[in-house]
Amino acid sequence: MTKVLQRVPGQCPPEVKSAHGVWLEDTDGNVYLDAVSGGAAVSAIGHGDSRVNDAIAAQLDQVAYAHNSFFTNRPAEELAELLLSEAPEGLSQVLYCSGGSEAIESALKLARQYWVEKGRPQKSRIISRRQSYHGATLGTLSVGGNMPRRDYYAPMLFDAQLIEPCYAYRLAHPDESEEAYGKRAAQHLEAAILEAGAENVAAFVAEPVVGATLGCAPAVKGYFKEIRAICDRHDVLLILDEVMCGTGRTGYMYACLEDEVTPDLLAVAKGMGGGFVPIGAVLVHERLAEAIRSGSGALRHGFTYMAHPLSCAAALAVQKVIKDDGLVKAAQQKGELLRQVLDERFGQHPNVGDIRGRGLFLGLELVRERNSKQPFDPSFAFHSRVKAAALEAGLMIYPSGGTIDGKQGDHILLAPAYVVSETEIEEIAERLSQALDATL
Ligand code: PLP
Repeated sequence: MTKVLQRVPGQCPPEVKSAHGVWLEDTDGNVYLDAVSGGAAVSAIGHGDSRVNDAIAAQLDQVAYAHNSFFTNRPAEELAELLLSEAPEGLSQVLYCSGGSEAIESALKLARQYWVEKGRPQKSRIISRRQSYHGATLGTLSVGGNMPRRDYYAPMLFDAQLIEPCYAYRLAHPDESEEAYGKRAAQHLEAAILEAGAENVAAFVAEPVVGATLGCAPAVKGYFKEIRAICDRHDVLLILDEVMCGTGRTGYMYACLEDEVTPDLLAVAKGMGGGFVPIGAVLVHERLAEAIRSGSGALRHGFTYMAHPLSCAAALAVQKVIKDDGLVKAAQQKGELLRQVLDERFGQHPNVGDIRGRGLFLGLELVRERNSKQPFDPSFAFHSRVKAAALEAGLMIYPSGGTIDGKQGDHILLAPAYVVSETEIEEIAERLSQALDATL
């Protein structure tokens, strides 16, 4: 019996033994093709890279840990330079942490501190979106809209105002242009700000491409520009959650570059450390950094493992691999290929309602029937069945189920490493097809 409290206590998943590229092997000798970067869109450069291993070993010989209130360290400084060099102009400093939830929690606290520094402490409310996921801590759950993950822990720490997401497949009108839909969807934010009173609202938080809850639903072109304009109009900070879709995954170093918006706070995590170490970060706009410097002069927030030298050294090596090997471009090109293969295989599939996403961050929405877009009955838990069938076929995918108008929707998220080959892409589609056939 496992002594680890597993996701499903009492059930023990297979024990992983080794991993290379996009392949993992368990201790029973089963081999899995990894279509989702370690299971959660993390292992962006694939499993194992001697350049990262060497950087970790070299850092261990220097210093593994020193608290950030005593020292800065070279890898933290270099990594911050690198992350900022490709970020939208205006983002000027990096706050480090140990993962995605901590990154969003930190962003929420920084937003709050900003308004306190500015002498407007009443600006404390957060607006976020339904069908979103921003983390597992009680603070981040409070702004999340993934009801299956949050309902069990209600009441929340505070009540964020949840607005409609930008979800063209279900929420755009049939005769509506992308541009018109983007404007209409963004209006939900303005309405929510006006309802709460702009003087009470600190920030709006959203994922540029919704990952876990909607199976890679990107906002339509123009939506985030409109959101930025609304935030500016009402003095509301914009927090973008790129924990899953950032650091190259969408074929851009940051998804917001494609949307042509500059957030006030930009959270990244998974692909940042590529799974070699736990790490996350918030890229902070100069406006906020300056307000703290010239205000109270102290960050009222911190973690023991902030700017951890070993984690930063590993993440720096991962980011150098992404840069040196041109992997952001690769994510774009391979994403186009995966998209094409998925369209060919599943474009007419009776139970695949939509294929969507950006770069190597693609999702399939599963429906009972294409024309009506009717979701499967929640009790059928279609996505979980497909996951089990995919594992049988030796394929790792990320299934998810959100709520659509009170009903459960099923999605499959695919996010292979940027180093996935053309043959492996074909093999992902083949195994996924086997899994869908076996489930229906
Ligand atoms: N934000 C997004 C968009 C995520 O997808 C996740 C995790 O899936 C998180 C935040 C939380 O990250 P972590 O699980 O590293 O705490």
